[in-house]
Amino acid sequence: MTSTWVEPSNTATALLLLGRGSDPDTERGVECPGDLPAPSDPDLVARATAAKAKLGSKVFVLGHHYQRDEVIQFADVTGDSFKLAREAAARPDAEYIVFCGVHFMAESADILTTDAQRVILPDLAAGCSMADMAVLGQVEAAWDTLTELGIAGETVPVTYMNSSADIKGFVGRNGGVVCTSSNAKRALDWAFEQGSKVLFLPDQHLGRNTAVLEMGLSLDDCVLYDPHKPGGGLTPEQLRDAKMILWRGHCSVHGRFTLDSVNDVRARVPGVNVLVHPECRHEVVTAADYVGSTEYIIKAVEAAPAGSAWALGTELNLVRRLALAHPDKQIMFLDKAVCYCSTMNRIDLPHLVWALEELVAGRVVNQITVDADTAHHARVALDQMLALPGADTPPPAAS
Ligand code: SF4
Repeated sequence: MTSTWVEPSNTATALLLLGRGSDPDTERGVECPGDLPAPSDPDLVARATAAKAKLGSKVFVLGHHYQRDEVIQFADVTGDSFKLAREAAARPDAEYIVFCGVHFMAESADILTTDAQRVILPDLAAGCSMADMAVLGQVEAAWDTLTELGIAGETVPVTYMNSSADIKGFVGRNGGVVCTSSNAKRALDWAFEQGSKVLFLPDQHLGRNTAVLEMGLSLDDCVLYDPHKPGGGLTPEQLRDAKMILWRGHCSVHGRFTLDSVNDVRARVPGVNVLVHPECRHEVVTAADYVGSTEYIIKAVEAAPAGSAWALGTELNLVRRLALAHPDKQIMFLDKAVCYCSTMNRIDLPHLVWALEELVAGRVVNQITVDADTAHHARVALDQMLALPGADTPPPAAS
């Protein structure tokens, strides 16, 4: 029997993966409006170099760690989403911020930069499926449910950096805070000083891992709120009793690692250090030797002694670059199957060349703007994060 391929439904995620169609209420998923150079053009590197040189200090290119090498080579600075947003804010003289990352990151950069600066995302289809799992209307409906139950007043919303500006704005409007994977514990400590419950958006795994492994809460203190079910699929008692109300969202890259991935690599490579990102599932993080943010993973590998073996549970572009940069160490991907972030990978050299050459021609393409009201409230939640006390956890002592 011949099976026919059926196009996925027009969900936000399908649009993102296909890079076409339009859904302005999501992390975007739209066709690139430009006349892109062919990927086979042998002059792409020379064209990007020339365009960047012509723009000089007017342009500042940010590159997320999960971006392709062909793009990273043109980044003025590399980092995780929060570091990049701060780097953008620290360059008030750069008229154009070209953000090689995904949509929510470019929004954060727009919020943190001056009105005179313009933030450009070379491909508007570069969204984030996790950010798309929490849409403002859904979160407002959840908040209404908590209000009807009389528990919204004691609930503090906390959103991961990997969320849309709308969601950050909601959190700022309702007395909450933004967090990153490096400061999630500090954000939760602060939140539990303000109220007795937390609504954690949109990554259930970061919320659960931080609450249980770093704050001493139990799995029973956490409930999973499914935005596609009435009342989140929870009873009023479950919502009243919970300390952590976790949004049913996850990263499609880090969520792929399983306990089998950890067991397999330990069997294949005796003595291997398993280091994973906290966006991984709870059982994976529990079975790993170390857990930490992207920046933590990079520092841990840099500090590791020659000859040590590391299986990394994070995005493949970063793992590959770390392996190339540290040939004296055995750096491997945690899973046997390849696992790029498909939306991060949408920013390729043709899109970067196109965006830079358009700027040289005086045309600003793919500008990302956040409306003033949303930006104001999102900034409140971001500033609250910046005011959190304490320092980041140091990387593990290498073994
Ligand atoms: S790696 Fe995960 S969280 Fe990051 S952009 Fe991709 S889907 Fe979103």
